[in-house]
Amino acid sequence: MNRKYRKTIIAGNWKMNKTPSQTKEFMNEFKSMMPKGRWCDVAFCVPAVCIPAAVRAMRETRVGIGAENCNANASGAYTGEIAANMLVDAGCKYVIVGHSERRAMGETDMDVNAKVKAALQAELIPILCVGESLEQRELGLMEDWISMQIKSGLNGIGEDKIRKVVIAYEPIWAIGTGKTATPDQAEDVCRNIRTVIRKLYGAKIARAVSILYGGSMNEKNAHDLLAQPDIDGGLIGGASLVPAKMVEIIHAANQPTD
Ligand code: PEP
Repeated sequence: MNRKYRKTIIAGNWKMNKTPSQTKEFMNEFKSMMPKGRWCDVAFCVPAVCIPAAVRAMRETRVGIGAENCNANASGAYTGEIAANMLVDAGCKYVIVGHSERRAMGETDMDVNAKVKAALQAELIPILCVGESLEQRELGLMEDWISMQIKSGLNGIGEDKIRKVVIAYEPIWAIGTGKTATPDQAEDVCRNIRTVIRKLYGAKIARAVSILYGGSMNEKNAHDLLAQPDIDGGLIGGASLVPAKMVEIIHAANQPTD
């Protein structure tokens, strides 16, 4: 983390878990446990039907609510889809874009880029996910792959907008598997991502972009991961479903830095 130049963000990704009633229960429990005083930015990206309950419960707090996906179009004949401006109107601040689970369902780099643009247009903060498979890592293709994902995800996004984008490095082999990247492995990739951004937008902007790590981050490993200079927070799946675990991760994000 480097709090001098960029935000620290702890964001939950609930995936397809919890009903609206369970969301209300969770948020009330979480609120009663929230650390006092100054803490990092916190977000919960929840299933679309849970957004109203989450927004209502967190109205008087600094916790941001987000969605797990959006459509790239502003409106139209896209049955079952949700546009970015609808999410804003429902009270969302964030949207996850390009999660590997959605890419596995057929989302392409072009789709991801269009969604990042749609989110920014609607003034949502996109959390752009990138990450390699185990096979790509073992074949030594990781760096080029992630650099390509970053370049295509940010294609056409100007200097005025890039500061609003949050990047999440999520190695596919670590998501939901209990196999976390080591702090060194995660730092290496996050540092390379910052280098790619520096080449695209310059040093000042690269320094200001928050890069999160995601992949089995939990209350036990968060402290060491978040101690790395280029890891500015976490995108957290399983552990974000348990209030006490999220609170512990937030405490880890509040550790002193140089
Ligand atoms: C995720 O889905 O973004 C994620 C990181 O999941 P988990 O923490 O469960 O690995």
